[in-house]
Amino acid sequence: MGVAVETEELALLGGPKTVVDDDPDLLAWPIVTDEDRQALLAVLDQPGSCSDWDITLELEREWGEFLGTRYNLGYPNGTMALQAAWFAVGIGRGDEVVCPAMTYWATVTPALMLGAVPVFADIEPDTLCLDPNDVERRVTDRTKAIAVTHVWGHPASLDPLLDIARRHDLKVIEDCSHAQGSAYRGRKCGSIGDVSACSMMARKSLAAGEAGMLSTNQREVYERAVLYSHYERHASDLTIPELQAQGGLPFGGVKGRMAQFCAAVGRVQLKHFPARSAEIRAAVDRFFDLIADVPGLRPHRIAEPDSSMGGWFYPHALYDPEALGGLPVGRFIQAVRAEGAWISPTASFCLHQAPLFTTGDIFHDGRPTALANAGRDGAVEPPALPVTEALAGRALRVPWFKHDRPEAIARHAAAYRKVAAQAHRL
Ligand SMILES: *Cc1c(COP(=O)(O)O)cnc(C)c1O
Repeated sequence: MGVAVETEELALLGGPKTVVDDDPDLLAWPIVTDEDRQALLAVLDQPGSCSDWDITLELEREWGEFLGTRYNLGYPNGTMALQAAWFAVGIGRGDEVVCPAMTYWATVTPALMLGAVPVFADIEPDTLCLDPNDVERRVTDRTKAIAVTHVWGHPASLDPLLDIARRHDLKVIEDCSHAQGSAYRGRKCGSIGDVSACSMMARKSLAAGEAGMLSTNQREVYERAVLYSHYERHASDLTIPELQAQGGLPFGGVKGRMAQFCAAVGRVQLKHFPARSAEIRAAVDRFFDLIADVPGLRPHRIAEPDSSMGGWFYPHALYDPEALGGLPVGRFIQAVRAEGAWISPTASFCLHQAPLFTTGDIFHDGRPTALANAGRDGAVEPPALPVTEALAGRALRVPWFKHDRPEAIARHAAAYRKVAAQAHRL
């Protein structure tokens, strides 16, 4: 569908807007119907249900069927699911763990709190996920695990990462908070490493409210996750004698039960998720196809036939100001917004430079916790991560269409095309 507006005056300079129709549910998420409302009210109306876990067990079972994982455990949020995942694979004092700096903090902070030493590695310029070559360079004889985030739904390069893990006897933790339903070479992300965790908070592509889920195919990993925070299930779910003997109180010191309101909504959302995420993929691909030849914008997506971006998570394009005559990203955003199209800058993720990991002294050791965990003195030298650092100001959130409406999507694409075509005038 062609929308020929590229030669019209830019809206920012007084010309007509490109996106004029009011279509509020084009981007709205989650999609809520009476089915969600009824599921929610049923929890409220069922005596004792608010703090029970029978509905959560159903969500866990259905999530396992969706993902292809045998053991699945619900949490109040993705952060706690990640905490439990790190504990579950046995990470503890002095262990080195290789992590991306380009991720949400909760991928990495639990390792620090368990006494481990985060070692940050760089990302690949196309996937924006961990670069296996850089990971391998950072592995030492103290390394115990690799954590990967499938950034913005793009599967990480798991085959080479799993190969490194096999050769060095490392655990692999997948943070799937952006990648529910994403696939890597025919397998669902979150079913491939030793353990996975994901957020199901309302802004993620599977939106249950505030919730998280841990998944694994290994019984011992599951039971350690139960030991961490699901004390109410210790009696029923701990079967390994050494873990059974330790049960009773949560080893994480926290209570990890998912709210059943969220579990109930999550079940309805999951039921519709395959169809809705297929429509999202069609819509976002349609948009990216329409801007594929626009200079200065490179879609962050996967082309491999047996891999997928799931339900996406804020689709991104990588911005190259040089291709647009040096147009600053802020001005590009301003001009696209003036056209009535949706666009947003993204926060930069440079966890390796954050005070928590460089100078933070959480436990009053008199030195940064990251060094105390390593048993060393001195100062933390953040590694140089050129690809991660170069991303700041270059990643743009483009519309996360929830409906495949060709006319509306073409209008949005036309707005981007118009601004790029007239970048020299800005
Ligand atoms: C959202 C998110 C989390 C944390 O999940 P919460 O449910 O907000 O606690 C962890 N990792 C990544 C990559 C996320 O995007």
